Amino acid sequence: MHPTGTVPPAENVLNYSMELTVDDVKNELYKRHHPSLTSLDIEVHAKTIHKIRTLKQKHNVVMLGHNYMEPLVFGLSEKEEQGDSLGLSMFAAKTEAPYLIFNGVPFMAETAKILSPDKTVLVADKTAGCSLADNFGAEDVRKLKELYPGAPVMIYVNSYADAKAESDICCTSANAAHIAKSMPGDTIIFVPDIFFAQNLEEELKGVKNVVYPGKDNTARGAVCEVHERFTLSDLLAIRESFEIPKEHPKRKLYAHWECRPDVLQEADYYGSTSQIMKDIAARVDKDRLERAFIASECELTSNLAQEFPKVQFWTACSVRCSHMAKVRIDKIADILDALDNGDDLTDYEVTLDPEVIDKARLPIERMLEASI
Ligand code: SF4
Repeated sequence: MHPTGTVPPAENVLNYSMELTVDDVKNELYKRHHPSLTSLDIEVHAKTIHKIRTLKQKHNVVMLGHNYMEPLVFGLSEKEEQGDSLGLSMFAAKTEAPYLIFNGVPFMAETAKILSPDKTVLVADKTAGCSLADNFGAEDVRKLKELYPGAPVMIYVNSYADAKAESDICCTSANAAHIAKSMPGDTIIFVPDIFFAQNLEEELKGVKNVVYPGKDNTARGAVCEVHERFTLSDLLAIRESFEIPKEHPKRKLYAHWECRPDVLQEADYYGSTSQIMKDIAARVDKDRLERAFIASECELTSNLAQEFPKVQFWTACSVRCSHMAKVRIDKIADILDALDNGDDLTDYEVTLDPEVIDKARLPIERMLEASI
């Protein structure tokens, strides 16, 4: 684990409003002053980043950067192109760009394709998986519907399109409780994340009965292999090692909804990635945050460290999503080279059956209506 927060303010994205040379790119990268962005990284990658930026502009590509991307990849996206998977997919749908490069894993790109069926959606590595999405599919939804006839199925956005297509409504970690409450009846089936389901069950106690895979049934569910790694004893050790005592006014321990229930209960604040980011921003605004640890993907903390340089963030860089880590700048440059040369894009393109797109769009649209 290592600290951040001892560096001056820096920009975390390149300036896209002007033509840049390779030297300009290097200068901008050096100005970031990020502790995990060494001069070696900058010297080795500046040329590739310059090429990506040039071809991105030439072909009017929207480059979506998920919050869990490593800083060099994250910084390829403009500010409005950075965020979580649903927010990015919604943003991309509003643009005129014919090509989307989604710097994330394929289930995220599928959501972009569902919302932008006429655009070409590309990913750096189609083999990049996700322990949540890979271990749950349409058949698993059908089985739960048989077990609990009449109960609506609410599916977490971290799932593939085929599973969404079988579900009634979608949710994110930011709106799950609100969406569940908006559904008819006493019971809701939540899939596929088991820890998230348990956390939601606790949150909705007395309001809604939450059933999920593994709760009094043998249905298959899944967990996020990254958030699963944090245990209660880890959090207690982190509090002690990094001097983040409970209730401290300026030192906070954050946890994501996908963590284990006892980890959530120990955290000073829990929420979705966007809620955690908003809480940090609000505290920074009022000078109420000097140190933070986030029980989530390591690169989220790296990116936050760039955005909030006055906060000392501690990270657990052994907790890295191996799937997200497959997205590297050399692979992103390969996509743009293929596009520029007019080559076949099959290796990068995320495609979906039009019927699946139509069916999977409904639960997303219902969620958006219920969110208003
Ligand atoms: S962090 Fe990795 S394993 Fe966890 S939900 Fe995201 S992509 Fe899946």
